[in-house]
Amino acid sequence: MGELLYNTAGISSYAGAAETINGTMDVEPFTMGYLDYSIPGGIEYSITLSNVGDAVVLTGNAHATIDGNCVRCLEPASMEIESDIEGYFANGPESDLEGLEDDEYEFIPDDGIIDLYPNVLAAIVVEIPPVFLCKDDCKGLCPTCGCNLNYEKCDCSNKIDETNPFAVLKDFFKDESEDAEDTSN
Ligand SMILES: [Zn+2]
Ligand SMILES: [Zn+2]
Repeated sequence: MGELLYNTAGISSYAGAAETINGTMDVEPFTMGYLDYSIPGGIEYSITLSNVGDAVVLTGNAHATIDGNCVRCLEPASMEIESDIEGYFANGPESDLEGLEDDEYEFIPDDGIIDLYPNVLAAIVVEIPPVFLCKDDCKGLCPTCGCNLNYEKCDCSNKIDETNPFAVLKDFFKDESEDAEDTSN
């Protein structure tokens, strides 16, 4: 797990103090729902940290190109994600935390240094679609022979037709017409 440390000392002197930071955060490859993802270019972020009195509030945005594998064809796929960064770091238990769930805030430690890594990563991760695709209309793999239907054609669906007893009749008539062509030559 990486980290993105920020010292709140610079904005701690008065309510209303704020600072905006920009940069790119390196991210380790991670697994989600049995699928592996990586963000080789890191996450670009712009975060404004505001002292609201008894807490530091984060607002901002994140942008990343995320690499994974298409769930239909299993080929490498990548997707661009843009998202909002949020966060709430309270000064202490006496801060007004009403209306916030336990997982919606952290406390600012005594040294004043907070880690923004989870907030930046979460902004991107929550936007990863449950069905990660190489393209919206990916045709996927043939369930019978496993060929990639985006690049190849197979006749598996025709073979399935042969289990239909009338398929034999179809072939019979086809042969007849082929014979007819042969005799005309
Ligand atoms: Zn695909
Ligand atoms: Zn096939």
